[in-house]
Amino acid sequence: MRADGTALAPGSTIGIIGGGQLGRMLGIAAAQLGYRCHIYDPHEAPCAAEVAAAFTRGSFDDAAAIAAFAAACDVVTYEFENLPIGPLGALGGKLRPATRSLETTQDRAVEKRFLDAAGVRIAPWAEVDDEASLDAAIETLGLPLLLKTRRFGYDGKGQAWVRAPEDAAAAWAAIGRHPAVAEKGMHFTAEYSVIVAHTADGASASWPVSRNIHQGGILRRSEIPPGAPIDGQIAEAAAIAAMLAERLGHIGVMTVEYFACADGPVVNEIAPRVHNSGHWTIEGSATSQFEQHIRAICGLPLRDTRLVGSAVSMDNLIGDDVEQWAALIADPNAHVHFYDKGEARPGRKMGHVTRVT
Ligand code: AMP
Repeated sequence: MRADGTALAPGSTIGIIGGGQLGRMLGIAAAQLGYRCHIYDPHEAPCAAEVAAAFTRGSFDDAAAIAAFAAACDVVTYEFENLPIGPLGALGGKLRPATRSLETTQDRAVEKRFLDAAGVRIAPWAEVDDEASLDAAIETLGLPLLLKTRRFGYDGKGQAWVRAPEDAAAAWAAIGRHPAVAEKGMHFTAEYSVIVAHTADGASASWPVSRNIHQGGILRRSEIPPGAPIDGQIAEAAAIAAMLAERLGHIGVMTVEYFACADGPVVNEIAPRVHNSGHWTIEGSATSQFEQHIRAICGLPLRDTRLVGSAVSMDNLIGDDVEQWAALIADPNAHVHFYDKGEARPGRKMGHVTRVT
């Protein structure tokens, strides 16, 4: 969207900071609407650059390179939240979502303070900066608890369980003795997410809730509808996500992950971006999360987020799962996405498969 509030016309250039599969799918959606994408990423050949009009290779903390990249774009967005804020501050209104969404969600302690202030239910928590504060957290929160680094955690990395007092030193060492939060271990029947798009003029739209099944800290599968454990709390969770997006002044898509607990939804974390648990929206919804994000950042109206069909599942292709590509391509009911990331390392997300019934 331009500074005067009018929509960006097709043919304009969208900058995307981060060149992974989320950037790739944003780029494909943007191209359909007639926009050109310019990817900024430190790697040599990021998979988003393969489908974009332009690519700048640069470090996320190179302020001069980011400023030059932004000058070549009409609007700039990001697909990755672990970005240094400094170089982005200079982008002003061209950056969507703004730095507030990044600052709030890239540090777990800042995020939890934001969630506490918003009055939503989260796991009881404490800041941990050393072994003494970890011992104090064990005392106040009880066991088990999960230690998570404040920054740079993803896919379960930077986390260690403390199940007995004598685990504390090993858990603190396991997360590299980085500033952390300790969270009380929650009892939940399922995990789910609400993905919501929010615009500059305050409109919001969320998709049907997906139930998320993780393995080894990595999302394995999403299922829509989410089923019995979650049905009774969907409306509350959706209202919370819209309220959080409004409080952040978020422009674009964001994702709130929840635990289904006996008392209702407990917010686990916020991702200020499109999300793996929303890949199903490409074929399973009237509008994909990627198109909706492009619409929101370009000042176009949001579209319908209705479920298409009656049920959708999305399975990630992780590591050498991708070797089944020939069988998947031959399955007439599978919508197959490969990210063209090269080497299929263990734990690496190489593609996904969506089935709509
Ligand atoms: P996160 O990186 O915060 O999404 O955590 C990764 C996974 O660890 C989650 O998807 C949950 O399965 C589990 N987890 C995270 N926090 C808690 C908690 N407080 N209690 C129980 N399990 C948790």
